[in-house]
Amino acid sequence: MRIITIIGARPQFIKAAIVSYAIQQHNAQSSLPIEETILHTGQHYDYNMSQVFFDELQIPAPRWHLSCNGCTVTEMRDAIVPYIRGKADYVMVYGDTNSTLAGALAAEQCGIPIIHIEAGLRSYNNQMAEEYNRTETDRRSRYLFAPTHTAIENLRREGITKGVYHTGDVMQDATLFFTRQAEEHSEILQQSGIRDKEYYLATIHRAETTNDEEKLAHILSAFARITTPVILPLHPRTKGVINQSERLLSLVREATMLHIIESVSYLDMLVLERHAACILTDSGGVQKEAYFHRVPCITMREETEWVETTATGWNRLVGTDTERIVNAVKNLTMPETCISEYGDGHAADKIIAILCKNAY
Ligand code: UDP
Repeated sequence: MRIITIIGARPQFIKAAIVSYAIQQHNAQSSLPIEETILHTGQHYDYNMSQVFFDELQIPAPRWHLSCNGCTVTEMRDAIVPYIRGKADYVMVYGDTNSTLAGALAAEQCGIPIIHIEAGLRSYNNQMAEEYNRTETDRRSRYLFAPTHTAIENLRREGITKGVYHTGDVMQDATLFFTRQAEEHSEILQQSGIRDKEYYLATIHRAETTNDEEKLAHILSAFARITTPVILPLHPRTKGVINQSERLLSLVREATMLHIIESVSYLDMLVLERHAACILTDSGGVQKEAYFHRVPCITMREETEWVETTATGWNRLVGTDTERIVNAVKNLTMPETCISEYGDGHAADKIIAILCKNAY
């Protein structure tokens, strides 16, 4: 079976790492090997947003590396088509970025069936490009690997029931697989001069946050009122926006406990997450990773796709209001409840087993 994996953004590299590893494990034991070829769209291109993940997580090198940074989905689709036409039995895409939908549209144009990993998630916020990307990708997919039963229910409501499988979450696989390695190799705590549970970790990168100076200003004002050190590995988009605004720069200067660092590698991120007393984020993946490490999470959005994290109390949605963020930090709780939905760390193996059983 020939699969072309199309990826282009940070969270996809991490998910692809664990699935590529599962493919290699499968190939080592099976007479029905999977030939995986990776196409990198170039959506993320900075070293620490892209290549660092290939180096650190030993993701197979992309056979094709396009330069689609800043492209529209249509431009990206058109760039992908000539590389994949006639070359694969399946195209595999992850999550909800422009690379996801562009890969799915390119596959559709070439008549290649689509495998969507992390299918069925919905925030029901139609202002988010991610919501459009994931819904349109799901509509076109032959295999829909859903991390949760809620995702399956979301698909059912849209009339999609065929090819849908609950597999658990490949990001949990990645966290479980790489955490020991991270603890052994990462020196980020020492480098940052911080100690276990004596700091908070923050990430901000969603377009709906960074495109609105008011929202960013409210978040930074909250950080200025937090009396515990806040480590913020800064996404290049957020950095660009802050650097363009005198108002935001002055709020950063006021936030004396805020420590801004460059965005970090995955192993460093796992260590920063695991040792944080609390995580504040607008990221989808980081919300879950907080739970994987059993660290309370405050999500600076009004809705989440990962509803199990809020239902169990591990995650609180506070939007970008300064008071709500500060209050949430003052009222952190450590729930007892666990989430079984995300599986047992073998979601990627399940995906490969299902493909081999049904797709050969
Ligand atoms: N991440 C990372 N370094 C960072 C920030 C995040 O390796 O400096 C990882 C994080 O651990 C998670 C993934 O990137 O696995 C989340 O990606 P992101 O927040 O960019 O996207 P989202 O999950 O919101 O789609």
